Parts: sequence; structure tokens; C-alpha cells
Amino acid sequence: MNDTPTALAADVARRPVRKAGSEASGTTDATKLRQEILAELTYSVGRSPETASTRDWFVATALAVRDRIVDRWLLEHAPDHARPRKRVYYLSLEFLIGRLLFDALHNLGLTDAAREALAGLGVELDRVREAEPDAALGNGGLGRLAACFMDSMASVGVPAFGYGIRYDHGLFRQGMRDGWQQEYPEDWLSFGNPWEFAHPEIDYAIGFGGYVEQINSGGRAKHVWRPAEKVDAVAFDIPVVGWRGKHVNTLRLWSARAPDPLSLAAFNRGDYVGALADRVRVESISKVLYPSDETPAGQELRLRQEYFFASASLQDLVRRHLEEHGDLGSLPDHVAIQLNDTHPAIAIPELMRILIDLHDVPWAEAWLITVGTFSYTNHTLLPEALESWPLPLMERLLPRHMQIIYMINALELETARGKRPGDDGLLSSVSLIDENGGRRVRMGVLAFIGSHKVNGVSALHTDLMKQTVFRDLHALHPDRIVNKTNGITFRRWLAQANPRLTKILIEAVGPELLDDPERLELLLPMADDAGLHDALLNARRENKVALAKIIAERNDVWVDPDALFDVQIKRIHEYKRQLLNILETVAVYNAIRAQPMRAWMPRVKIFAGKAAASYHQAKLIIKLANDVARIVNSDPTVRGLLKVAFLPNYNVSLAEAIIPAADLSEQISTAGTEASGTGNMKLALNGALTIGTLDGANVEIRERVGDDNIFIFGLTAQEVQARKQRGFNAHAAVEASPTLREVLDSIRNGVFSPDDPSRYRGLIDGLLDNDVFLVTADFDAYFDAQRSVYRLWRDKSAWMSASVKNTAQVGWFSSDRTILEYAKEIWNVQPSSDLA
Ligand SMILES: *Cc1c(COP(=O)(O)O)cnc(C)c1O
Repeated sequence: MNDTPTALAADVARRPVRKAGSEASGTTDATKLRQEILAELTYSVGRSPETASTRDWFVATALAVRDRIVDRWLLEHAPDHARPRKRVYYLSLEFLIGRLLFDALHNLGLTDAAREALAGLGVELDRVREAEPDAALGNGGLGRLAACFMDSMASVGVPAFGYGIRYDHGLFRQGMRDGWQQEYPEDWLSFGNPWEFAHPEIDYAIGFGGYVEQINSGGRAKHVWRPAEKVDAVAFDIPVVGWRGKHVNTLRLWSARAPDPLSLAAFNRGDYVGALADRVRVESISKVLYPSDETPAGQELRLRQEYFFASASLQDLVRRHLEEHGDLGSLPDHVAIQLNDTHPAIAIPELMRILIDLHDVPWAEAWLITVGTFSYTNHTLLPEALESWPLPLMERLLPRHMQIIYMINALELETARGKRPGDDGLLSSVSLIDENGGRRVRMGVLAFIGSHKVNGVSALHTDLMKQTVFRDLHALHPDRIVNKTNGITFRRWLAQANPRLTKILIEAVGPELLDDPERLELLLPMADDAGLHDALLNARRENKVALAKIIAERNDVWVDPDALFDVQIKRIHEYKRQLLNILETVAVYNAIRAQPMRAWMPRVKIFAGKAAASYHQAKLIIKLANDVARIVNSDPTVRGLLKVAFLPNYNVSLAEAIIPAADLSEQISTAGTEASGTGNMKLALNGALTIGTLDGANVEIRERVGDDNIFIFGLTAQEVQARKQRGFNAHAAVEASPTLREVLDSIRNGVFSPDDPSRYRGLIDGLLDNDVFLVTADFDAYFDAQRSVYRLWRDKSAWMSASVKNTAQVGWFSSDRTILEYAKEIWNVQPSSDLA
């Protein structure tokens, strides 16, 4: 079970590596690449240039580019390669990677060569790019973070494997019927995936159910788990090439395969469906991504997914470690495992089981190895989003793990008792078992005590973690919690998504910018430069024209590219408060209707985002946005001065189209609820100004761009806590705000839903009865902040100056910086690149 065929690797090691990353050798590179693409088209796709479809060209191009990556990949993983360095294993149930062609081309410095190579064949690179399906193996920010981290680890030279699940169907495709969200299955694999290598020979047996036997082994009690069923986990590898092609890491995704493809006995009885039934059931593990964001799915299949990929990944890395180092005692010296949220936390008892049951390591030593190897990233404080599993389900599905969890818990509680005798409140709060309302295993506690470091994803979030969810665990382990503010890869979110802006920035501060984004600060002295403003305005206008075209095509709405593009794009969730934005939209609409002839500032409100299929309130909010859009866009008194567009099917590719065209970035979650946000970083980098609360990474964006270049409003996290403790009364807030009252009345009375006037009665009454996310409390402050936006927008040069100061001062939010911090303070690995 080798990762790579050894003979081939050795052969490759002897061959000269193709030189990548040199745009200078343009034409020769293009000629060579053209030959390679043609060869792939002919011999891998089986098509001639005359009959090839755009998709065929995409596959041929991807395969040609992949070949170049593979040379480096095999070299780095060649067995005679210098002593392996410490590796990072990033375990994540989600990788929201999006399209990969431009990632690979850009990082290899081949974008121009590919454009030229294809042009010579009468094919347009940008059309080919669009033919790639968007790999949506994630819900939102958490999955996108994992994808940015994969790019950054390869770029700064941290040797890493990403481990996840190769879902047959990623996040659902969102359609709209009459303004209501419709979910359609997503089918990214239906035409194959040219980036991946199937490795049917790399497979591991994953057990479920059964019982635990105690046997006597040389006078010692030994536990043997006898699973009732087994599933095979089969590896599919995607090479991830870093910036300038220096390093290639591996994203290894597991697919479930039934050990027995078919029950011959049933087949021979003539029961053809029954013959396949078992296989279908077993393989359902890697069928679909759970489409829920910020709420745990809670079903047995989800727990199966978690254990399936955690166990396969651990078996894989333990095998590799034993091959390379021979002894599991040295695991923490050579391996760092990062848990992206609690979804893979079952890996902690799984490693204990492997050490104790399979390798006879004594408990105390096994625990030191485990804690020394694992670290855990927390992504949310919302109580409803904290993962826990019912004990009976865990005991049935993973009986040996449950025993280990009890043991971990007993030892942890003993330590806690020793430190704080008699503090029963502390004991119940740090216990792995939640005793309130049906006994459950708390995965957050498991991840916390099984890790040597636990991190939050923004400064505020980390502070709140210490005060809330992990208050008592933090008291017991005061050095464990650290902060690692999220980041984004600038290669995708600036260079690839916004080539027009990138060109201007390179002209202004030099191409070194691509290696060191903090060089963007060199823009600061030019922040008021009229020539720079003009160039930026032209680039942005072209981006806005392109987005206007998309809005016209998909929504049949015409928008003015010179209007302010006010953008809120993210999962639809009550805590993110799209509703607050819609209420402000209605307030503006009411104001325009009251005084149609005033000089209103043209504005386009752009929304995009998916709601979990079972999340009724979020789906109703989508419907409301669409209802408001229909009324506002067709009202002749508005004369196009306000337009509303909800773009369907938000994904990475749509984000790449919207972000470069945004003027205003809506980051308006209730303070204390958004752990970090990364959309806020992407938009600020691209020059949008933020209107937002002091929540998540908005706080750190403000610290960097300065108070004058961001629109901050609303209650702080502390004030939110205080309000809630006092018992917040929405009725009083509404009484105090005539604008808000009028808005709520019009929605409640069916102004936007004449076909069903009572559609929003429940929504509005609910808001008044129990405004959990303090929409009404923040409305006036938000409305006023929007008026300041208008005032600044009227002064083009002041606006552009603020925009430049945003782009210039958010270089720190590069995920390269985040990864270097993890490498140093959590993983103890040495990055190898000059980027470090
Ligand atoms: C960046 C990104 C997110 C996260 O956005 P937030 O505003 O931080 O919630 C979600 N989905 C996609 C497709 C993204 O690119």
C-alpha cells in the first residue's frame, strides 16, 4: 500500500523537472503546453480538436497541467527524498475548493501560456474555465477555510495531507421557484474529475457496531473490538500545488466501498435488487454532504461519516509513520493532526484504541502521545451548534470508543476534583457526558481535553471562548487556548478573482506583492492619488458591468453599474441578519415612495446564499428578499434608483464574480455570534468598504484599516450579553423608531406579498415576541450607518481613498500568515519556503 509507485518515483527523480513559474519564457511554454493539451485531448479524452466540446478542452487542459504538478509531487514524495519532515494532517469534513484550473495555472505561472496555447487552437481559456464544475464539498466558511489552508500550506512549504470525504454529491444546487429556494442534487463527478488519482489499492477497513471482547494476553486484560459490519475506505488523491510550484501536498478524500459488491446468494435467488441493497446501504456513507451550516445534523449517517473518515485517516497516517519511523512513541515529533471543528473529534478515542488495543501501548503513554499529536479549532459559540451524540447511539455504533471515552472522562474528572475539590458545578461543566435531558457525549469537551492546543478563529471569538463555552476547561488548562485569526488565500481571492485590480496593484507596489501581501501597505502614500483612483474606478466599473450582466442573465433584472453595489453574500442564517438588511431596504423604499423627486443615490442591494433545506425561517427570509425585489424593481416611482437582486446558487465561483464588483460589504451579524468570517476579508481586500458590527474578524479589520475607513454600528458583544440578561423587549425598540415601525407594518400587512398577505405575519410577530438576534435593537444604528455610507459615496475621491486604505491594510489576513502561526505555535513544524 504505497502512496506512489516507487519505481515510477525513482524514474521521475532522474528526469529533469519541467521548469514552471517562468512567464518570461511565454511562447515556448505556450507551444509546448499546446502540444501537451492536444496529446491529452487525443489519447486521454479520445477526441479530435474538430469534435471536442468545451468540456473536452477543459479535461485535456486540466490533465496537461496535472502532469506538470505530478512531476514535482512524485519528487517530493520519493522514498529517497531527504529525511521526511514533520507533517501536518488537516482533518476536515468539508473542503470547499471550487474550481481548480486557475489555481493550478496561477501557482505554476502558466495562466498566460495556457491562454496562448488554447487561443492557437481556437479555444478561449475563459470558456474552458467555466466548463469546470465547482467542487462544493463544503457548506460555507469552515469548508472554504480548509481549502485556503491547503493552498497556503503548499505555498509556505508545510508538508501536509488534507483528509476528508469524497462526497458523490456536494452541497445542493439552489434554484428559485417563485422566490422560494429549491434544492437540487449537485453532480460534480458526473463527467469525472481530471484532478484526482483513484487509488483503489489504498483502502482500509472501517468497523461499526458489534461488541468488545476482553481477553487475557500474557496476564494483561486486552480489549478486542469485534465490529458487526465493515466498510472499506478507498483513497482518491488531489495534488495541491503551492505558489510558484515549489511544493505539492495531497488532498486525500475517502470514498466508501462495500467489501462485498453484491450478494451472490440473493442474486442467484433472482432477488436482483436485494443483491445490491447491502452495497447501496454501505456506500451511502460518502454519498452526500450534510447541507447544514452551524447546526449539527444529528443523524446516525453523519456519525458514520465522521468515524469513517477519521478512522481511515488515522490508519493511513499511523501506517506511514510506522514505515518511516518504526515506533509510535515518536508520533508527536513527526505528526501534527489538526481537527477542523469537532466533526473529526472521534479521531481522539480512535488513536487511543489503535495505540492501546492494536499496539499494546499503556494508557498513560498513549494519552501523552494523543494529546501531543492533536489540536482542535473551534468555530462556533452558538449553543445550538455544539455537537453532541446520544450515548445509546455511540454505544451501539462505536462500543470500544465509548469505553475509552468513559475512561478519559473518569481521569479528567479526577484531575479536576484534585484541582478544585468540592466544586460540583465545575465537574458537570467539564464532563464529557452531558447529563441534561438525555445523556450525550459532548464532542467539544472531547476535542478540548484530547488536544494540546485549542484555537479560536479571531481575537474576539477566542476571548469569548475563554469566557463562555470553555470557561471551566480554560481554568483547568490555562495555556491551552490560543488565537489564530482566519485568513484567505490572496492567490484566489485577489490575483485570480480580480485580475484587473491585481494588475494595478502590481504596477503600484511591484510584483513582489504576490509573495508578500503586506507589501500592499506601500499603497498608503498613494491613497489620495487621483490617477490611482481613476485606474481603480475603471477596473471596478468593468467588474461591475460583468456582474450586471450576470444579474441580467440570471434574475432578468437590469442594474446600473454606476450605482452603489451593496453586497451581502454568505449562508442565510438568522444570526447573520440578512433580515436587518432587508428591513433597511424596505425603509429606503418607503422613503423614496414618500418623496419620489428627491435626489436619491442609486443603489443595488445584492444578496446571495443558501439556506439549510430544513431551516424554515432562513428559507422564508430568502422568499422575503425575493418578494421585496419584485415589488421594488417594478415600482415606477422608484425609477430604478433602488434595485434588489437575490442571485441564486451562491458558491465559490459566484463569489469570485461578485466580490470584485462590490462597493459595500455587509458584515452585520449580532456581535458575539460570527466566529470570524472570511467573506469580510475577501471583500475588504478587493476594496469594498465594510458596514458591520464589532463581531469576529471585523474587529481586527477595523484595527487595521482605521475607524474612518469602515462603518461600524450597533451593540458590542458585551452589550448584547447585558441586554439579553436584562430581558430585551423588542416592542419598546419598535415604539422608539417610527421608521422601523412603518417597515414592519408594511411587511406584516402584505405590501410585499399581495398574493398571500399573511405570509410574513408570523415572521414579524416572532421578531416582536422574541428577537433572539437583536435585529430591532440594532436597526436605528444600522440605518444611520447606511446614511453615512451615502454621504461618503457622494464624495468619490474620499470614498476611493478609504477603499485604497482597505486594500492596503488587510495584507495581514492572508492565510499564509495564519498557517505560519499554526506552524510555529501549534504544530511545531518548520515551513520550508522563502514565503516563511
Ligand atoms: C468565503 C465564503 C464563505 C464564508 O463567508 P462568510 O461571509 O465569512 O460567512 C461562504 N461561502 C463561500 C462560497 C465563500 O467563498
